[in-house]
Amino acid sequence: YQRIVLAARPRGPVAPENFRLETLDVPQLADGEVLIRNHYLSLDPYMRGRMSSAKSYASSQPLDQTMIGGTAGQVVASRNDYYEVGEFVGGILGWAEMGVSDGVLLRKLDTTRIPLSAYLGVVGMPGMAAWYGFNQILEAGAGDTVVVSAAAGAVGSVVGQLARLRGCHVVGIAGGPEKCEYVVKQLGFHACVDYKAGNLEVDLAAATPDGVDAIFENVGGACLDASLARTNAFARVALCGLIAGFNGQEMPIKNSRPLLLNRLTVRGFIITEHMEFWQQGLQELAVLVANHQIKYRETVAEGLAAAPQAFMGLLQGHNFGKQLVKLI
Ligand code: NDP
Repeated sequence: YQRIVLAARPRGPVAPENFRLETLDVPQLADGEVLIRNHYLSLDPYMRGRMSSAKSYASSQPLDQTMIGGTAGQVVASRNDYYEVGEFVGGILGWAEMGVSDGVLLRKLDTTRIPLSAYLGVVGMPGMAAWYGFNQILEAGAGDTVVVSAAAGAVGSVVGQLARLRGCHVVGIAGGPEKCEYVVKQLGFHACVDYKAGNLEVDLAAATPDGVDAIFENVGGACLDASLARTNAFARVALCGLIAGFNGQEMPIKNSRPLLLNRLTVRGFIITEHMEFWQQGLQELAVLVANHQIKYRETVAEGLAAAPQAFMGLLQGHNFGKQLVKLI
C-alpha cells in the first residue's frame, strides 16, 4: 500500500518537495490490532503547523514518517475482539491507504443515516470546533450579530448554520463572489463579505448595521481587525484559527482600542483539549445533519497521490467546504 511522508519542512509556502510517496508491504497484525483500509483522508489546516518545527501546542510531525491525518475507513482484518471485519471506523491513521491500530483511538462509525465522509467534517473534528466555539465561548443569543471568517470552509460553514438556527444575524467573510453566494444562498447566512473585493472594512460595516456581538475567528489579520472594529460592548471572540499567518506572516492587531473600550472577551481554544464535549456535540451535529438542518459541502481529491496538491489548495482557499481525499 502507499503512504505519504514528510520529506522536508516547508520554508514559506508548502511545496510538492515537502512530501514523498512511498510503497510499503501490508503489515502483519499483532494480538489486539486491527488493519484498516482508509476510504477517506481528511486534509486540515493544522497539518501546516505540524510540518514546521516551530513551537506550538502540539509537537511537530517527524520527518520521514507518515503525515498525520484523520481517516475514515473499514476494518479489513482484526485481531481485536471489539472490531469486526467490515465495520466502518474513524481513526488518525495519516496520509496512507491502510493503517494498523491497537483500537485505542478508533471510533466505530454508523453510516446508516450519515455518509462516511461526513465524519471527517461536519460530524467530526471541524464540526466539533464549530460547535464548541459557538456554544461554549460565543454565548450568542437570538438577535445577536455573529461574524464568521473562512465562512465557506469546513468549520465556518457549520458555525454560521448553528448561529442561524439560534436566531442570530449571521455575517460571513469569505474569498470570492462564488463562495459568498454559496454562504448566503445555500447555507442561509444573512450576508457574506468578499474580503478579496478590497473593501473589507466598509463592506463589513455595511453588513453589520447593529454592530457585532460575537466573532468566530478562523483567519486573523485583516479579517479579525475588521470584525474587532465593529464590536459592541461585551462582545465575545472565539479564536479558532489564524490561517492568514500560516506561512509566518506577521498578524498585528491594527487597533487594540475595542478590546478595552468594548470590554471584549477573547478566548482561543484547541478542540482536542475538550474531549468531554465531543459526545454531546457530535450527537447534536449528527441529528442536525440527518434532519438536513445543517448542510455541508465537500471538495474531494481522488487518490493518495493527489493529497499534496489538494493540501496546498486548501491553504490557498481552493476548497469549498471540507477538503477530503478519496482513497478507494
Ligand atoms: P477551511 O475549510 O475553512 O479551509 C481553509 C480556508 O481558509 C480556505 O478555504 C480559505 O478560504 C481560507 N483562507 C486561507 N488563507 C486565507 C487568508 N490569508 N485570508 C483569509 N482566508 C484565508 O478549513 P477548516 O474549516 O478546516 O479550518 C478553518 C480554521 O479553523 C483554520 O484556521 C484552522 O486552523 C482552524 N481550526 C482550528 C481548530 C481548533 O481546535 N482551534 C480545529 C479545526 C480548525 P477563502 O477562499 O474564503 O479565503
